[in-house]
Formats: sequence, C-alpha cells, structure tokens
Amino acid sequence: MAPETAVVPKPAPPKLNPVRVPIPEEPAAERVADFREVLHAYSREDAILEAKRCIQCRRPWCVEACPITQDAREYIRLIAAADFDGAARVTLREDPLATCLCKVCYHYCEDACVVKKKGVPIAIRQLKRAALDYGRSDLVYVPSRPKGQRVAVVGSGPAGLEVAWELGVRGYSVTVFEQEARFGGLMQTIPPYRMTDEDVETDRARFRDLDITWRRGVKVGVDFPVDRLLREDGYQAVFLGIGTPLHRILSVEGERRPGVLPALDFLKRVNRGEDVPVGREIVVVGGGDVAMDAVRTALRRSRGGRVTLVYRRGREEMPADAEEVHGAESEGIRFLFQRAPVRIVGGDRVEGLVVQSMELGPPDAGGRRRPVPIDGSEETLPCDTVIVAVGQRADLAGFGDELGLRLTAQGWPEGRGPGFQTAVPGIFAAGGRSVVYAMGSAAEAAEEIDRYLAARRGETTGPRPDPFGGPAAFARPAGYTTPIRLPP
Ligand SMILES: Cc1cc2nc3c(=O)[nH]c(=O)nc-3n(C[C@H](O)[C@H](O)[C@H](O)COP(=O)(O)OP(=O)(O)OC[C@H]3O[C@@H](n4cnc5c(N)ncnc54)[C@H](O)[C@@H]3O)c2cc1C
Ligand code: SF4
Repeated sequence: MAPETAVVPKPAPPKLNPVRVPIPEEPAAERVADFREVLHAYSREDAILEAKRCIQCRRPWCVEACPITQDAREYIRLIAAADFDGAARVTLREDPLATCLCKVCYHYCEDACVVKKKGVPIAIRQLKRAALDYGRSDLVYVPSRPKGQRVAVVGSGPAGLEVAWELGVRGYSVTVFEQEARFGGLMQTIPPYRMTDEDVETDRARFRDLDITWRRGVKVGVDFPVDRLLREDGYQAVFLGIGTPLHRILSVEGERRPGVLPALDFLKRVNRGEDVPVGREIVVVGGGDVAMDAVRTALRRSRGGRVTLVYRRGREEMPADAEEVHGAESEGIRFLFQRAPVRIVGGDRVEGLVVQSMELGPPDAGGRRRPVPIDGSEETLPCDTVIVAVGQRADLAGFGDELGLRLTAQGWPEGRGPGFQTAVPGIFAAGGRSVVYAMGSAAEAAEEIDRYLAARRGETTGPRPDPFGGPAAFARPAGYTTPIRLPP
C-alpha cells in the first residue's frame, strides 16, 4: 500500500484592508487665504493603524519602485509595532532628504503597492513622516575612514546633496558649490503649503559631522572654468548636479508685456517672502507640477481673485501628479483643456490671452495624444496676469562640448558613460525628473565616483557603509528582485 502523504494546508493569504486611514487635510475654503500647510501628519495612533494595513509582501514592490531603494516595508513594520525610533533610523539610513521627501515625494512606492490592486495603497509617504515626527530623527551621519581625496559637487539640488552625502559617508572630503544664496535647488521653489526651507535645513543638519564644505554664490563654469577644479584646486573628481534652473518660454507675441511672469521666478520670489504683485484675473499656462504649484500659489496671492489653468492637451494627458491636480481643483481653480496660447494682448499691461482650441490626434513618440489646432477657434481670455509654466531647461554657460553632456527629454544634463561619467575623465553629471529620481541617479553616479577614486588609490570598493557607523553596509532587503522604474 502506498504511504499516505500528509496534506499541508496552504497558509491563508494575509487579509487586505483596502481602506486608507484618512490623511488630515486643512479645509480648502480656509487654506487658500494663506500659505499654511495643506496636509497634516497622522497622529501616532493613526500611523500605527495605517501601518497595520501593510501585508509585508515577500517581494517588496514598494522598495523595488523606489529610486533610492528605501526599505519602506521595514519602517512600516516597525511603525506597526510602535517602534518609531527604529522606523526613523531605517528611514534616514537610506534617505538623507527624508524631511523633504516625506512631504513632496511623488511616492512611486504607493503606485506599486500591492494593496492598490484592491483599494487605496498604503500611505507610505505619510508613514515616513510619522517615523520622523514620532521617532528620534535628530540623528547625525558619521563618516567612515577618511580617504584623503577631494570631490567638488556643483549644484545643491537633490542630486548634489545626495552625492555629497554618499561620498561624505564614505570618507571623502566634499565641497558643494551653489550659485544661489540658498541650498536645495528646485526644492526652493516648492510652495510653503507643501514644504518649507526649514525642511531642507533639517535634513542638511544631519550632515554636520561629514567632511563637507558649503559654498554659496559661486557659479562654476562662469566664475572659473570647471576643469580648474581638477587641474589646480586639488579635487580628484567633480559631480555636476546643475539641474534645470532656467524657464522655457511660450514664444508667442506679447510675451514681454508687464504682467507676464515665468512660473519659476514667480514661485522662487514668493518663497523668498517677496510681495510679488499679481492681478485678480490670472491665467497659468501649462499642465505639469510647476503649473499646479503656480495656480495654487497665484490663488493665495490674488486675495480672492480668479485663477484659470490653460493646457493644450486633455486631463488624461496632464503630467501633473494626481494629488496636486485634486488639490488645485478642490481649491476652485478653473481648468481649460485643449487650448493653446496664440498671443498675449494688451497695452502697458496684459489684458488677455488669446487661445486656440485643439483636438487630440494620434499619440506622439512619448505616447501622449498630439494636440492639433482647430482653424477659426480662437478666443480671448480676459486677464491681467499670465504665468508661464511650460518647463525648465539647463544653464550650460561654461560647460562646453568637451563634456559630451546629453540633455534628457525633461531638460537636465547628464553624462553618457557608465555611472553618468562625462567624456572628461573624473567629471560626472546627473539629475532627475523628481526629487527622488534625481537622488537615485546621483546615488548611481556617487557609486561610480567611489569606484573611480578607489582605483586611483589602488583599492576596490563595496556598498555604502552604514551612515550611522554601524557594522552593516547597505544591502537590498530580502525578496527584492528587480527595480521597477518609469520609462525615461
Ligand atoms: C515648482 C516645482 C515643484 C516641484 N515639486 C516637486 C515635488 O513635489 N516632488 C518632486 O519629487 N519633485 C518636484 N519638483 C521637481 C524637483 O524639484 C526636481 O526634479 C529636482 O529638484 C531635480 O534635482 P537636481 O538636483 O537634478 O536639480 P535642481 O534641483 O535643478 O538643482 C540644481 C542646482 O544646481 C545649481 N546650479 C546650476 N548651475 C550651477 C553652476 N554653474 N554653479 C553652481 N550651481 C549651479 C542650481 O542653482 C540648483 O541649485 C518640482 C520642481 C519645481 C520647479
Ligand atoms: S507593497 Fe504595499 S503592502 Fe507590500 S510591503 Fe510594500 S507597502 Fe506593504
């Protein structure tokens, strides 16, 4: 008789709760009066409840979707166990800009979270905030053995800050050169109702024991040539994280009229506390995140005025983050889709924006439907202010062809070689479409810079050491398979 085989019951799949603990939000009608914070932190208890919804997937989709491989699964597990100190440490172990990211990250992790298949994904970004708010987050990074080599980092946006951190933790001596008076790059244009300057400074304070020198008001390439850093100034490698500090223009008639403002300038000046005058009937042109920040900031500055967004494609094609679009809509912004600006009319000041209706044709190379003008469909939108938010571009003054830089579709320059090496040995360049993407590519560049400098010392390198001086170097969490990334 054949022996009986025991039937081992399959473990029941973990119960999935599709309903998110609501994120506290300032009422729309009241928040538009000023720049108060819109989204508030979870309470401790709510954070624990939300963390308990996580089913701790064996394959951590959320981690695979994160450009900096943040172990969200682990900090969520610790929050569910009410260990906020542990959660803060895990968060800061891989994320040197956690105070900023817990407020403005586009949370690719939440898009990949398995719970999204049945309901609302885990509020991973909000839980990161809870880890920092309720755990010990005033930790300080510790450099490992000094390497005796110097690296110049040009630009203090997320990419530059990430490289400074990665290399500072590995024991290199780093100097950060920033042309502006403040550090943080384009994060300095994000309105205070989402994040503030203090958030950047809170993160930067944890760098204080690393060997990093901070230099403001220096425009490398213009104040002195970039190769001087390698030839004369004693640096063995240079990282260019110069991003996209300039605005693109509409290229329509009347764009130089008073009352036309580039969104980047407008947002930067408002953030600096300047009283930037806007009218009562404002039109913002664009469909991305900068346009969303511009409409919501203009509304707050207009003291009861009306703000209209004009976008040449449809709602579906808008590249802006859904959360920001929802925020703008609930604050009463008027959206006009499938309209493209033709000219700006007026006398001494703007009096209107002439737009033409568009129909959507077949998809272009990027997969979005191409807007096609409809003859005879022009109309004038009366307005006293036009804010232009149609993209940013790099400032390559002083960075010559010898670097062989590639400009990406969104405009930032990067090196074409492995680890973003440029055509000049020892010079690397990277950046990104969002804070965390810029950090992810910068982390890759930092690894390559480390390899390059180690080879010059006759050594090999390993993964990033524990930034708090512990014994365990960086390792991907158990179950991690392949990175999940947006198409370029
Ligand atoms: C209004 C606005 C809102 C945004 N909101 C979000 C958001 O909510 N979430 C998100 O993830 N992303 C957001 N982004 C995008 C995000 O800010 C960028 O993707 C990110 O900052 C890019 O980082 P980076 O380091 O590559 O470049 P940048 O942030 O552009 O930084 C480059 C830095 O280099 C400096 N620099 C340039 N040339 C020189 C030079 N020659 N010498 C010295 N310094 C130089 C610049 O002054 C700047 O400080 C937003 C962007 C804008 C404009
Ligand atoms: S994918 Fe979602 S459910 Fe799975 S571990 Fe990550 S946060 Fe938890």
